[in-house]
Amino acid sequence: MNYISEQEAKEMICSIGQKMYQRGFVSANDGNITIRVGDNTVIATPTGVSKGDLKPDMLLKVDFDGNILEGTWKATSELPMHLRIYKENNEVMSTAHAHPTFLNLFANLGMELDMSLTPATAAISGRIPVAPYQNPGSEDLAASVAPYCKDFNVVMLANHGPISWGKNPIEAWYILEDAEAYAKMALLHKFVVKADYRPISMEQIKLLADTHDLVINPRRLVNAPEKTGNQEPAVSLDAFDPDCAWMEKLVEKTADAVVARLKS
Ligand SMILES: [Zn+2]
Repeated sequence: MNYISEQEAKEMICSIGQKMYQRGFVSANDGNITIRVGDNTVIATPTGVSKGDLKPDMLLKVDFDGNILEGTWKATSELPMHLRIYKENNEVMSTAHAHPTFLNLFANLGMELDMSLTPATAAISGRIPVAPYQNPGSEDLAASVAPYCKDFNVVMLANHGPISWGKNPIEAWYILEDAEAYAKMALLHKFVVKADYRPISMEQIKLLADTHDLVINPRRLVNAPEKTGNQEPAVSLDAFDPDCAWMEKLVEKTADAVVARLKS
């Protein structure tokens, strides 16, 4: 198998750490990044340092059992979780963990992200599940991620934050960045803008996968409907009255509930 050089891996971790910090995905010393550099070795971030301040000489070389082979800093306590992902899926070359606000919000709510919003969210992260809460840094936390490593590329740890992985470091970072944009959009759709959105249909997702040579694992498929209105003419934003739309929906739901009650 081909691996990137240890020096290149260290520089990439510093660069991804900068992006994490600048995008507000981490506070204080949150987050960890690893890149695989051998059959049984990774370069990993140390504990206790802001991801915006990483320098190549702070990084550690560790084996899959968590032994430090090179480096003077203390390893991140989240190392077992990162190493478990490599052990479960041999195609993984990099992992990225952070605490971005919008994904963390859904991790706290215990709500998986499965709305069918855009081609990017349907194809890149797809459905983002929530792994049950486990103590940070524990082997139990590592085990909680294991069932997702083969079929998914990002998972939310309940009450903690997301971890993503990919075939190269940029892919792992892009997946995390895309997932956070997805969470932000989902929040606005569900809890702020109460209008019905026009989803991407299952047929449109299949077409997207066929024409872009994408393989979307069935477990990662978002909750896409058979039919959508996204090829209909756009409606006037100015004429749209959110209060009215919300009231209409409430009246409709109430009427349906009354009819159902009368029938039972
Ligand atoms: Zn964390």
